[in-house]
Amino acid sequence: MLLHSIIEVREQIKEWKKQGLTIGLVPTMGALHNGHKSLIEKSVEKCDKTVVSVFVNPIQFCPGEDLDKYPRTLDADNELCDKAGVDIVFAPTPKEMYGEGHILSNDFLTYVVPPYFYTDKLCGKSRVGHFDGVCTVVNKLFNIVQPDYAFFGKKDMQQLIILKKMVNDLNIPLEIIPCPIVREDNGLALSSRNKYLTEKGKENALALSKLLFNIKVCYNKGITDTSALSETAYSFLNENHSLEYLEFRDKDTLEEKKIADNNTVVFIAARVENVRLIDNIELN
Ligand code: AMP
Repeated sequence: MLLHSIIEVREQIKEWKKQGLTIGLVPTMGALHNGHKSLIEKSVEKCDKTVVSVFVNPIQFCPGEDLDKYPRTLDADNELCDKAGVDIVFAPTPKEMYGEGHILSNDFLTYVVPPYFYTDKLCGKSRVGHFDGVCTVVNKLFNIVQPDYAFFGKKDMQQLIILKKMVNDLNIPLEIIPCPIVREDNGLALSSRNKYLTEKGKENALALSKLLFNIKVCYNKGITDTSALSETAYSFLNENHSLEYLEFRDKDTLEEKKIADNNTVVFIAARVENVRLIDNIELN
């Protein structure tokens, strides 16, 4: 069932709650691929009813980012959801979510701002305000859908960590279910933004996952010094990659690690053909 209005979603949810059914929510920005599909399948398996939101959230894009050109494929998304057994695809307009002026008008003024310690690093450093936009829209979706479970991919590990903190800090009555990163057979992490890459670009993008896998191999051989582990990564990069960060951080607190351990995540962001790609690997 494809719904565009908050009222219609609320009515259906009310009905399901009355019947005592459990509800799973999978928030997405659409252009669905097998990564999204894996989250959807988890929800369909675990919950009585599954809601997938498809919303390119304007307030999580920074000026100059790809808000206008972000792929929008609602028909195909709806079909994929249908086949996967999704009960509601919720695809609101920006106006439905943020009112007449969309944003920065009196229609919408209240933001959920996650702790600075979590947002001043990694993606938050270059994407200032991004996680405020994410936390705000996810909170709104939580309030609209009132799910028992919400499914998020480890592909966006910083986002997942921040959202877990938000749910905990604000006593939001649901459980976040983290889902593994889905990759192509060659290792490339699936992303809606891969659509911007040429075939050559996709080949070059492989360096990100390759260097992460190699770091894990080195860690498993006993190298724990993170500067030594970083050194092993640079040989995978060349003039086709513009590295934004390669960092070793704690899985729960995002604190930097000088010595890697089983609670360490290696985060990378780099541009290939000017497309900003992110990936990460857990060292456990
Ligand atoms: P997006 O549409 O990019 O906002 O992503 C929606 C959800 O799908 C987020 O929780 C992402 O982490 C998750 N996701 C995106 N790509 C992948 C992937 N390759 N593997 C697992 N989850 C993913």
